[in-house]
Amino acid sequence: MFETLKAQPADKILALMQMYREDPRDTKVDLGVGVYKDATGLTPVMRAVKKAEHQLWETQVSKVYTGLAGDPAFGDAMIDLVLDGAVARDTIAAAATPGGTGAVRQAFELIQMARPDARVFVSDPTWPNHLSILSYLGIETIPYRYFDNETRGVDFDGLIEDLKTARKGDVVLLHGCCHNPTGANLNPAEWDAVIEVLLQTGATPMIDIAYQGFGDGLAEDAAATRKVVAAVPECLIAASCSKNFGIYRERTGLLMAIASDKSAQQLNQQTLAFLNRQNFSFPPDHGARLVTMILNDSALRADWQAELEEVRHAMLGLRTQLAGELQRLSGSDRFGFLAQHRGMFSRLGTTPEMVEKLRADHGIYMVGDSRMNIAGLNAETVPILAKAIIDVGI
Ligand code: PLP
Repeated sequence: MFETLKAQPADKILALMQMYREDPRDTKVDLGVGVYKDATGLTPVMRAVKKAEHQLWETQVSKVYTGLAGDPAFGDAMIDLVLDGAVARDTIAAAATPGGTGAVRQAFELIQMARPDARVFVSDPTWPNHLSILSYLGIETIPYRYFDNETRGVDFDGLIEDLKTARKGDVVLLHGCCHNPTGANLNPAEWDAVIEVLLQTGATPMIDIAYQGFGDGLAEDAAATRKVVAAVPECLIAASCSKNFGIYRERTGLLMAIASDKSAQQLNQQTLAFLNRQNFSFPPDHGARLVTMILNDSALRADWQAELEEVRHAMLGLRTQLAGELQRLSGSDRFGFLAQHRGMFSRLGTTPEMVEKLRADHGIYMVGDSRMNIAGLNAETVPILAKAIIDVGI
């Protein structure tokens, strides 16, 4: 039977990583894969995670199955972290998932079950996995304008114009903070305008929040999500713990479905459990348990927040350094957007040819759409990157 299979498109980032590994230049810089790296290039296990793992090893007496939606304590802790009481708890259904990707996948399946003809509006560009999962499930996708290649900010007028074409039964997928791949984000007044359009059209928002704490702070990064859920009758939220807890491989995420009332919440909760059952039965527990322990223990939580702040400030520092270096070399402010962007990524806004030239001539590895992982830099490599950008003529 296997001879009928067709080769699937290779993951571009993984192919780039392979090329990077094979590059012998010692000045090479990897800005490709989306993981946080410290100044030494390590993606560390966070201190609070290590401590929680130690405690868990000492105290856990059983690894028997949890519930289909995971341990409810994980759902409660994450709902609190993301929403902080923005809507009544009894309207929220939640299920643990394998990472944020699992939450996104389960959300799309829920949409398809509820509304087989739903169209999902996605920012242009968006995280490529959104598009590939939607296409795999056969869900119609409508891009909305997002990135302005001139200003490297949000094309707000284009976005609003496009979102106005959504209708009731459609879904508008939004990045809660730290937009991937551009790093360009809506400001609070622009979020208000998006909410207005959602209310006018009746379309349902779905918020993907994978970088809470990487932009302006834990509460600040969740502010838009909280504002949206408080304003609209229904909402989906896919949250990931991969980045802000640094537990990428533990596959820890949560899907939340917010309904307009308690009875719809019960149906949603049952449906989320059913969907988990069909796809993988019980969600992974280890990462979810660590997150629960950290969020519910004041000492662990304080240490986690302090380290997350160190991570966030390190990325902001690299942004400022890079923008400053480019200003010095170019004698212009045209790279100021790098300091305005938030999160792990910035889209440089150049052509695939220039991206290839950066790789071939300077050993700078970034994705073809010119997305750079800012955390792939350090104080020594920022000047190398800045010089390369000016040398190739960007
Ligand atoms: N959503 C966005 C926008 C992302 O960038 C990512 C990770 O790169 C995810 C969701 C999901 O990440 P994970 O499945 O590793 O938790």
